[in-house]
Amino acid sequence: MERTFIAIKPDGVQRGQIAEIISRFERKGFKLVAIKLVVPSKDFAQKHYHDLKERPFFNGLCEFLSSGPVLAMVWEGEGVIKYGRKLIGATDPQKSEPGTIRGDLAVVVGRNIIHGSDGPETAKDEINLWFKPQELD
Ligand code: ATP
Ligand code: MG
Repeated sequence: MERTFIAIKPDGVQRGQIAEIISRFERKGFKLVAIKLVVPSKDFAQKHYHDLKERPFFNGLCEFLSSGPVLAMVWEGEGVIKYGRKLIGATDPQKSEPGTIRGDLAVVVGRNIIHGSDGPETAKDEINLWFKPQELD
């Protein structure tokens, strides 16, 4: 069954949005298969966002991801990669529709509270980066 990697970033955790975000995925009918709270190192954050290393905001983005606890999760279900991105909404919360997580809960692109894998390959890579095989049974 299809799986995706979803992370509540340090701003979402600090702002108390864990239950709100998890409930949206649960209500849709997706299944939570792994979950843990971790403070990633900056080096680890750079691995997670390696595709963006040429972008001007890369350093700040990695500093931010490693600034506090991140709730790392794996969610499972038919179409969960694409539909998870729909639940999350557009990258820039100014452009996310109301009803989406970023549309309802965030204001600026550098503090958009949640990450979701953008395709089958990145989902596989990100799940393997954040979780050990024995955490995924
Ligand atoms: P994510 O990968 O976090 O789910 P995304 O796939 O919607 O977000 P990406 O293009 O992968 O968007 O960008 C990764 C993250 O980098 C964004 O979530 C955002 O926090 C940050 N980011 C993207 N564009 C900008 C920007 N112009 N300025 C500052 N930060 C940005
Ligand atoms: Mg992305």
